Amino acid sequence: MSTAARILIVVCALFITNTTAQAQKTIRVIASFSILGDMVKNIGGDRVEVSTLVGPDGDVHAYEPTPAAAKAVSQADLVVVNGLGLEGWVDRLIKASGYVGTVAVASTGVKPREMKGEEKDGRSMIDPHSWQDLDYGILYVKNIAQALTAVDPAGAETYTALARAYTAKLVALNTWVKSEFSAIPRQKRRMLTTHDAFGYLAGAYGIDILSPMGLSTESEPSAGEVMTLIRQIKQENITAVFVENISDPRMIQQIARESKVTVGGELYSDALSKPDGPAPTYVDMFKNNITKIVAAMKKGL
Ligand SMILES: [Zn+2]
Repeated sequence: MSTAARILIVVCALFITNTTAQAQKTIRVIASFSILGDMVKNIGGDRVEVSTLVGPDGDVHAYEPTPAAAKAVSQADLVVVNGLGLEGWVDRLIKASGYVGTVAVASTGVKPREMKGEEKDGRSMIDPHSWQDLDYGILYVKNIAQALTAVDPAGAETYTALARAYTAKLVALNTWVKSEFSAIPRQKRRMLTTHDAFGYLAGAYGIDILSPMGLSTESEPSAGEVMTLIRQIKQENITAVFVENISDPRMIQQIARESKVTVGGELYSDALSKPDGPAPTYVDMFKNNITKIVAAMKKGL
């Protein structure tokens, strides 16, 4: 074979490799926060490249978009948000970025829960934390798979298969959660957390929740409100008191000290942990939270 022919073969081989790589271009997805980011990874597999705006241990309520975030959004093929008012900053960010693609709302189809005692402009606030009910988590998976398929129809089979396997995992997890709580009498299922993020969890699994802070992680309770809570903990024999990864733990620690209950550990409400922590995925987050909640409630039996 002549040298020229050899070179031609090499050039052709390079060309073929290159076009194959282009045909399998990864879909760039921006998820608003870490829990959604993990779901997209599970459903998108190798076809997607996911980045999150609010990362592990981050507070999605208090997030302020940066110019770098706007640039990342402008280059995305798909943006996935929770909706239900969680990302109050997202419309501004999309506008600033110039992104004109799809913004998929993962919570589409959720029956919104109203926040008790939380009002804005005379209207009651919608609770955005619906991923804390696994039935809704499963709905999120369906919505995300649909959005990925719409943006990348060639990946339909992959997304359907991965979503099915992931859903089966969440269904099994939900069965485990229900069996864990069924071991605790309904009147003993009471807990206190810093940030009112577990309303959907409470609704799904029959728990009463006391929360000294409202919807926003930015508000602090008054001294009077703290005293009222301490009295309530004593009167109602609450044994399960928790801090959260996105909130300042000092107030709960003070409440626990003064009411002589022990803190049952750290719950993950609005963000996953870092990879080496106890809740690096949505599934791990549930395992961590439910194990700690159930252990604390059992102490009171
Ligand atoms: Zn929250």
